[in-house]
Amino acid sequence: MKARLTTPGARSRLRTRLLAHYDREARDLPWRGETDPYRIWVSEVMLQQTRVETVTRYYGPWLRQFPDVESLADASEDRVLKAWEGLGYYRRARSLHRAAAVVRDRHGGVVPSDPAGLLDLPGVGAYTAGAVASIAFGVVTPAVDGNVKRVLSRLYDEPKPTPRWLEERAAELVEPRRPGDWNQALMELGATICVPRVPRCERCPVAELCAARAAGTEQDRPAAARKKPARVLRISVALLYADDRLLLHRRPSDGLLGGMWAFPEGDVDEVAGRVGARLVGDVTALDEVRHRFTHIDATYLPAASRVDSTPTPPDDHRWVALRDVEGLALPVAQQRILGQWTSSRESEGA
Ligand code: SF4
Repeated sequence: MKARLTTPGARSRLRTRLLAHYDREARDLPWRGETDPYRIWVSEVMLQQTRVETVTRYYGPWLRQFPDVESLADASEDRVLKAWEGLGYYRRARSLHRAAAVVRDRHGGVVPSDPAGLLDLPGVGAYTAGAVASIAFGVVTPAVDGNVKRVLSRLYDEPKPTPRWLEERAAELVEPRRPGDWNQALMELGATICVPRVPRCERCPVAELCAARAAGTEQDRPAAARKKPARVLRISVALLYADDRLLLHRRPSDGLLGGMWAFPEGDVDEVAGRVGARLVGDVTALDEVRHRFTHIDATYLPAASRVDSTPTPPDDHRWVALRDVEGLALPVAQQRILGQWTSSRESEGA
């Protein structure tokens, strides 16, 4: 029973029903109804791999700080990463920052309206280009994210949808008069009803047209991909301090947590040697902090020690006054380490 959406009539019924449902039930989110392409672009980038609830906390403050492409393009990377702090996948923020500069310098500050122009921007893939073009500019083009992939795989009862298959199915379904609403309606269906594992088919406005529902295979669509096991890493980090200053290291821009400030990796004496300082007094071992990245299961082993001086460190290191540390973008695990260290000092009356 795989032939349900192969006729134009069936696809037309699907569009009518899903859009009517979307008009009635769509969640009231801060970026809904937005027409400014920059704002739509920001919301789409924030929503990649991040929960809607989390994004709603960041979206407004971000736009107050960077209300348009120019203000973002002109900002320092530190400010951009600080505003992104806690959203994760920081590469998105760095790419958005670089792309804003390209829009300022090559497009006169105007976000390109066609998918090809958008795809040329750093960090913009097919999904973001399709979403921004259709929502902001009414271009009749699909936008396939993880939610849409799941919905299409179920609607057509396709266990292994390839990128090409998804592109073709999504393209033939786009509602030509309301492409942006259509793409959002499909994503919304995947986020609220056609959810992973057990979909809520009894509440689904298009259940009658769904091939997987008819075949009873909805929980098996799409077939689960075999996951690569996460790499397990144990990482020593050093908190070296003197004169109310703390040593931080800016991570290389192309790796994990690229461009973010973090405590230097290594044992305390090794890191002290690297910057030309000597340990003074005891080394305090802090509790391990575990953090799960997409492909890495990291356990940080932090230790702290006072040092005798704060000599000029290598380029990518900096002694930062304690009161300024909060102003830098620190990854979540590093913030937890900092929190532990701060409370251990407070309890010692430091
Ligand atoms: S009927 Fe069920 S599986 Fe099919 S689209 Fe609706 S929620 Fe998804």
